[in-house]
Amino acid sequence: MKEELFNKKVTGWENISEENKQNIFKFSDEYIYFLNKVKTEREAVGFVKKMLDENGFKDINTKESIKPGDKVYYINREKSLYAAVIGTKKLEDGLNLLGAHIDSPRLDLKPNPLYEDTGFAYLKTHYYGGIKKYQWTTIPLAIHGVIVKSNGEKITISIGEDEEDPIFTITDLLPHLATEQMDKKLKDGINGEDLNLLIGSIPDSDKDESEKVKLNILKLLNEKYGIKEIDFVSSELEIVPAFKARSLGFDRSMVAAYGQDDRVCAYTCVRAMLDVENPEKTAVCILSDKEEIGSYGNTGMESHVFDMFISELLNKAGENRPNLLEKVFCNSKMLSADVDAGLDPIYASVSEKNNAAYIGHGIGLNKYTGARGKSGASDANAEYVAEVRGIFEKAGIPYQVSELGRVDIGGGGTIAFILADKGIDVIDCGVPVLSMHAPFEVTSKFDVYCAYKAYSAFVK
Ligand code: MN
Ligand code: MN
Repeated sequence: MKEELFNKKVTGWENISEENKQNIFKFSDEYIYFLNKVKTEREAVGFVKKMLDENGFKDINTKESIKPGDKVYYINREKSLYAAVIGTKKLEDGLNLLGAHIDSPRLDLKPNPLYEDTGFAYLKTHYYGGIKKYQWTTIPLAIHGVIVKSNGEKITISIGEDEEDPIFTITDLLPHLATEQMDKKLKDGINGEDLNLLIGSIPDSDKDESEKVKLNILKLLNEKYGIKEIDFVSSELEIVPAFKARSLGFDRSMVAAYGQDDRVCAYTCVRAMLDVENPEKTAVCILSDKEEIGSYGNTGMESHVFDMFISELLNKAGENRPNLLEKVFCNSKMLSADVDAGLDPIYASVSEKNNAAYIGHGIGLNKYTGARGKSGASDANAEYVAEVRGIFEKAGIPYQVSELGRVDIGGGGTIAFILADKGIDVIDCGVPVLSMHAPFEVTSKFDVYCAYKAYSAFVK
């Protein structure tokens, strides 16, 4: 009876077939390759565009009309992307949506970042998203992004990834002199204004100048990229960990890498989209930017660019009429594909073990998010949870339903509420992660593969 009635919590690795294990490890290798090529939202868009182009997707701007079976995408300012596979049913019957975000916590350069102090040159940063500042000191860092000159010329930068490249770092105080620092609260141990990237120490040979180290750096940058100091004001340069994504553990069961929140869901969503051929309902994949800072701005999920994309589908399918967009949304269903906090045995006290997500137990569903009395929650309706469960059960995909931490301990949110506002049925559905938002996050390869299978089953 117990076997039959209990909702058992078991690791997916138990009794796994050799074939399934092979599939999981092969998929994870491809995922790790992706993580090593993609450390920013712009790089994610570039990589995914290539994947889509190679798999029969066309830029919607190049198409006069669309018909069932067509595969299209729209790129929003190189930082967010929407893709669709047109279904045999009308769009107004609703869409099946997958939505992940491709921005990750990091350090951004300030508009006027470059300065010299006591023989060192530095770049000043302003952190992006919810980070624990102390985690970003004394690790190898890389610089990724773009500098756009006032004439429109765009210079793409990625330095610190190649073995031949230099890396950068943010220093921290030696323990011998850190008595005062060590007495501070952890959150105050490193000041935001002290997250300054060390970038050089050789002075220029011109004896009469001041700030000679800064001058030498600017000379090098001018030689290599043709830029001057003023060009930083129109740049987006992101400081990200320089270390590579790796298999973790003697058994290689996990992935350790920067930026898995939320590129693990982004990658698995896109892989799921590549499997979709002639669906009944149109399948749509959203890769959004700015989730980590509230989804604002014209590349964030709050922007109306997404509505414009769906309107374009309606127009080009020859279906559109006044107010049809709202109806499309009200008939649509979505998995908000974002990571979940996995239970960490070392910090188990913040989790409630009956309602925590476990690494290696399959894809995680969060019926609701929010914090303190479900405030700010996007809460999926029971009917919809049942429908999603049904899809996973039918496809044999292990899933777990959890919430983020113990009551009143904290909480979080995703893009789900923004889509729910439009009338879409939406539930959070993603991969549990350890050390979320740290420079090195941990996932289980089993869950990564489950995410791909779950998203695939949903859009099919
Ligand atoms: Mn996320
Ligand atoms: Mn996050």
